[in-house]
Amino acid sequence: MTQIIDGKQIAAQFKDAIAEAVADLGTQDIKPGLAVVLVGDDPASDVYVRNKGISTTKAGMASFEFRLPASTSESELLELIESLNNRDDVDGILVQSPVPDHINYQTIVDTISPTKDVDGFHPINAGNLLIGKDGFVACTPLGCSILLKQTNTELSGKNAIVIGRSTIVGKPMAMLLLQSNCTVTIAHSRTVDLAAKCREADIVVAAVGIPEMVKGDWIKPGAVVIDVGINRVGTSESGKAKLVGDVEYASAYQNASAITPVPGGVGPMTIACLLYNTLKAACARRGIAVPDYFSDFI
Ligand code: NDP
Repeated sequence: MTQIIDGKQIAAQFKDAIAEAVADLGTQDIKPGLAVVLVGDDPASDVYVRNKGISTTKAGMASFEFRLPASTSESELLELIESLNNRDDVDGILVQSPVPDHINYQTIVDTISPTKDVDGFHPINAGNLLIGKDGFVACTPLGCSILLKQTNTELSGKNAIVIGRSTIVGKPMAMLLLQSNCTVTIAHSRTVDLAAKCREADIVVAAVGIPEMVKGDWIKPGAVVIDVGINRVGTSESGKAKLVGDVEYASAYQNASAITPVPGGVGPMTIACLLYNTLKAACARRGIAVPDYFSDFI
């Protein structure tokens, strides 16, 4: 029987553990704070930022939102980042992407203090992951790892394929699987005979952005499938956006031992991991350990 990995439920449990840890810190007068900066008026980003604010407050953390006009210059944004780097009540800083074209996103990321880089995008945190040193791991791959852990799959020695090599999902995901002693293939748009490579994998992580590209018969019987893709494909009868993943769910389900649905799989884990990273930043900045509520997850 195929396990449907319920990201919604796992994210809710993970968020409960975070809220408990935050309450613990409260007894020491510590309130983790997350600053989210949005430049411009992209409607999807607006929704993401609002949801992040709501989740942050719900977890008992302080939420600081900065909504700047699209005309904000790069130097004005850098000035804001520097001020947030220096604020004691701010533990985590996130600049919502995309930023307007006249701003270089990487320059912004490079300016965020690595100790407050809760997105895990700063070169120091990306490098720490590469060399196996503790740091902030990008939220989506961290969420995927937590979901994998919930399947009780022994990862050591398994063949894993990560389809997609972006710096925010594919590459850090591959590093996490490597740390878990998988033999990792990283596939991308130039990969030859992807289907055959996929059929050898015990773990498949798809992070491509092409609706239902990974077919059911690419999935080895018993493989675990983590579908990161979020693709809007028209609207449902109720007028809501219809979402599908990068994996053809119905046919992949037939072969997989466990699979994440879209929506309700990886998506809900991303904000939960952002909150976890903020908690971790708050503790690290004060030289204290993260309260011990996370052995089932991390
Ligand atoms: P990017 O566009 O940055 O990267 C896509 C990757 O897919 C690239 O490495 C690209 O290869 C590869 N690719 C493109 N076409 C093919 C192909 N035909 N065969 C194999 N590989 C291919 O995307 P992201 O990593 O940012 O996101 C991937 C997906 O995950 C998207 O659907 C996005 O919406 C979703 N996402 C979901 C999140 C969540 O919270 N659940 C968070 C972040 C992303 P190349 O490098 O050669 O161009």
